[in-house]
Amino acid sequence: MHDRKKRKRFFFSGIVQGVGFRPYLYRIAQRYELGGFVRNTPEGVLLEVEGPDGKLAEFFQTIMEELPPAAEVTHVEVSEEMIKGESSFHILESDQEGKKEVIIPPDIAVCEDCLKELNDPRDRRYLYPFINCTNCGPRLTIIRDVPYDRPNTSMSCFAFCAACRAEYVNPSNRRFHAEPNACPVCGPRLWLTASDGKRLTEYDADPIREAANKLKQGMCVAIKGLGGFHLAVDATSEEAVIRLRQRKCREEKPFALMVQNLEAASELVEIGQEEKRILLSPRRPIVLCKKKEGARIASAVAPGMRDLGIMLPYTPVHHLLLAYVGLPLVMTSGNMVDEPICIGNREAILRLKNIADYFLLHNRDILVRCDDSVEMAAGNNGMIIRRSRGWAPRPIMLNQSFPDVLALGGHLKSSLCVLTETKAYLSPHIGDLETPEARDFFLESIKIMERISGCNPDIIACDLHPAYWTSQLAEKLSRSHMLRVQHHHAHVVSAMAENGLTGCVLGIALDGTGYGDDGTVWGGEFLLADFTGYERVGHIAPYPLPGAEAAVKEPWRSAIGILFESFGEDWEHVVRKLSLVDTSLQLDIVGNMMRTGFNTPRTSSLGRLFDAVSAIVGVRRKVSFEGQAAMELQALVRGDSSKCYPFSVTEQGEKQILDLRPLIRALVDDVIKKIEPSVIISAFHFTIIEAVAAMTKALINKTRTRDVVLSGGCFQNKVLFEGLEARLRKNGVNVYTNREVPVNDGGLSLGQAVVAGALVKKAGW
Ligand code: ZN
Ligand code: ZN
Ligand code: FE
Repeated sequence: MHDRKKRKRFFFSGIVQGVGFRPYLYRIAQRYELGGFVRNTPEGVLLEVEGPDGKLAEFFQTIMEELPPAAEVTHVEVSEEMIKGESSFHILESDQEGKKEVIIPPDIAVCEDCLKELNDPRDRRYLYPFINCTNCGPRLTIIRDVPYDRPNTSMSCFAFCAACRAEYVNPSNRRFHAEPNACPVCGPRLWLTASDGKRLTEYDADPIREAANKLKQGMCVAIKGLGGFHLAVDATSEEAVIRLRQRKCREEKPFALMVQNLEAASELVEIGQEEKRILLSPRRPIVLCKKKEGARIASAVAPGMRDLGIMLPYTPVHHLLLAYVGLPLVMTSGNMVDEPICIGNREAILRLKNIADYFLLHNRDILVRCDDSVEMAAGNNGMIIRRSRGWAPRPIMLNQSFPDVLALGGHLKSSLCVLTETKAYLSPHIGDLETPEARDFFLESIKIMERISGCNPDIIACDLHPAYWTSQLAEKLSRSHMLRVQHHHAHVVSAMAENGLTGCVLGIALDGTGYGDDGTVWGGEFLLADFTGYERVGHIAPYPLPGAEAAVKEPWRSAIGILFESFGEDWEHVVRKLSLVDTSLQLDIVGNMMRTGFNTPRTSSLGRLFDAVSAIVGVRRKVSFEGQAAMELQALVRGDSSKCYPFSVTEQGEKQILDLRPLIRALVDDVIKKIEPSVIISAFHFTIIEAVAAMTKALINKTRTRDVVLSGGCFQNKVLFEGLEARLRKNGVNVYTNREVPVNDGGLSLGQAVVAGALVKKAGW
């Protein structure tokens, strides 16, 4: 067959810059002997090739089949061009025209090719702990400024040796324009110090092996990683783990683990298809997986939890260390409670010297703080619990354009978002804004994200809660416009925006607590919502929350609130019977608070209701971290329960109200009858699913919406999320939820940004 020559133009969008895409295309074009060029543009990568028609088709197929691990092509535009008679292929300089938009890729786990070289005694980078290439290595965390070129990174102080430079400039080399490219001759180095920062010179030969020895002896080693320091101890040693808890002032919050490989992981946890995919993704997050019965791990790692947070090595240092140690390691963020993760050598020694016995340091500076991301499998997909390393600063792509907005998020698990045109850039996870250090980190993150997104928004969005530190900051920043966005509206819109839903949806926000537009505390909301507004068409019937925010740490308060609401005159009797308070005085005080309303807002929160039930069944009356009660409750669910407690869905004016008092009364009955707690807890979960499904059904009929959006922190409860999703799908409902940002308050800033952007667009400011 006569194979005619043709010239084609391809335009790739998605994650295609800084991930080795151009040299990749170059190599494949060479393989097929095609002429043409490839060039970065502000919107993506432009490729023109010419050659025999058949070869062009094969070429394109190969491109899509063998994509570099960190690249993600979301869209390809193809058109035919006039033949130019080019026979060679070139990489051209970036197109500088148009809006200067710089896409900075996230950090990427060390790739297979680099690992092979790392373990090859003949390779010049044998055992070199900073090996990387265009397919892998640090990105965001070493950036000082944009564009992403070596002089703007913390690699700028390392001058290339001749061999590294040759790789860097050779388009057919895997290290062509690999900005952090380095080798033992010219690159960064590692060393080990004692807790006072004194270098242990005798170990210079192999600091990683020596760190491994210290870990095997039960010592705690602070390890400088990609986005910050980890504190590591032997995870099989009860003593070492307990000592770390004491020194870190972290009573019970679970620690993450790192294990050598998938096989080692499967000895500790159950790994399904989805867990495997997430564990092995180039982001290498912490993955929450169900702990195996009898897993050889210290019980102090994750007391009372169903899951273990587990991750695989993602830097060459981790690979070498885990191979030398041969044990699972606790790898927890190097910080004190409520403080951000440490990044500088001196900072780490100063702040961690009373926790770590040794420090494994290096001289490649970390410039952007980035914690490990946390993900889990939920339904047939992944769910992000904490969005940080490996995700940030990858933008969330929206299907319409917005004015520039800076959104500040909430108060706990915070993140911020810079929205510009069709892209929403979320900062790495910042955390709870309780300490001055965390707040400094927040301010630092605003600067970083504005630099990375190349915009300085005039419009600022924040939560409706007047007491949030971020709401007060929004006023202080005094940009031209400031918009306050209701908490659960922001949750719902975050999931709408990700899923490209622009019309009207039924948003179900099941959450801890958020400030309602009526001044009460919301958290079990059914909102008929679009980007610019919402109507609260339904909610959980409110109950008193004695002590307000204090209830977050003390589930017994929520329990007393819901019992007061459910049992009328008998409430005190029930509280005594369940021994929820220590003294009669305590009961009197709380009783008075509820009768007078002093420091006792009314709330429709489902999160607090989970806490309440946890206290009522005797799992938890107090917690040491937010969400602990609900997590321990979930851990006790057994199989498929079909026992359902009563509840009622009633109409009050225009609103649909979910009354859960009958559930509470029946549940308390079972507790008093000493029914097995796991039976009660399973029935409770099952009832909530049934009740929310019943509300949804009624509201769909009433509002004639087809699309239902699930968001809010309660959906991190896998039993609730998977159960409800399946139940709604069975009823023929289109169910959407967050996939690229957390369902918890970590995703709030995205929703706020889109609401504010849409409002401004509508108002035509
Ligand atoms: Zn590599
Ligand atoms: Zn070198
Ligand atoms: Fe929330």
